[in-house]
Amino acid sequence: MTEATTGEYLARARAELRARQGRGAREDAPNAPHAELFWARTGTAYFARKLGELADAGPEGLDGPSLLPGWDRRALTAHVGYNARALTRLCAWARTGVVTPMYATPERRAAEIAEGASLPARALRHLVAHAEVHLNVEWRDLPPAAWDAEIRTAQGRTVPARETAWMRAREVWVHAVDLGNGGTFRDVPPAMLDRLAADVLAAWRRRGEDAPALVLAPTDRDDALTTQGRDPLTVTGTMADLVRWLTGRGTGGLTAPAPLPALPRWF
Ligand code: ZN
Repeated sequence: MTEATTGEYLARARAELRARQGRGAREDAPNAPHAELFWARTGTAYFARKLGELADAGPEGLDGPSLLPGWDRRALTAHVGYNARALTRLCAWARTGVVTPMYATPERRAAEIAEGASLPARALRHLVAHAEVHLNVEWRDLPPAAWDAEIRTAQGRTVPARETAWMRAREVWVHAVDLGNGGTFRDVPPAMLDRLAADVLAAWRRRGEDAPALVLAPTDRDDALTTQGRDPLTVTGTMADLVRWLTGRGTGGLTAPAPLPALPRWF
């Protein structure tokens, strides 16, 4: 299909969907961050699938460890649910102008996760499912101007509300892997892997981290990524394996002519 006919096809499909759904149908504003919302929604489905594969109890199930030090799967799952609620608050902030931070305090955030982690399995699953639906409703209802309204992240960065879609995409895809029951960076959409790699390097630059000099040479991409510095170490692997390393989740699948250096944290 050419681009023009694809556009016409999508416009017709949208009009038909609207007609089927009738009044009150929701869809994203025309200037919404469509790619990031798509990643957030497919990542939400991916996280839900991996969570659904876990038994309610036992070390192989929800009670077992996640891949994140200090967090079992219950804590990780509660965090993913409460993160959706926190992003919902940022959307409400953008929509109303009333300042509603992601979390009241870091201590409150930690206490909330501990509380959520202690919930019965069914309630914990419900928390995630409900929070996700609520966030999606907030996104669908966000008027065009609100997507560019400024809000502040938990890290203290001032960003437009459209950033919430990318923040959520990142959370659901990466934490689905962190559940540690077979989720893998190979399942992350290729364009999103590229974005994740850029995101990590940008975060290091923003914080002025003393990152090692690297040439990241993905075997499944045309172009390499580089960090500043002399005598860079060339690290080769698939983009999925490179991103896993950059995000602090292991060195599997990578090759380099010298031992891999320690990396600054992502965020
Ligand atoms: Zn997180």
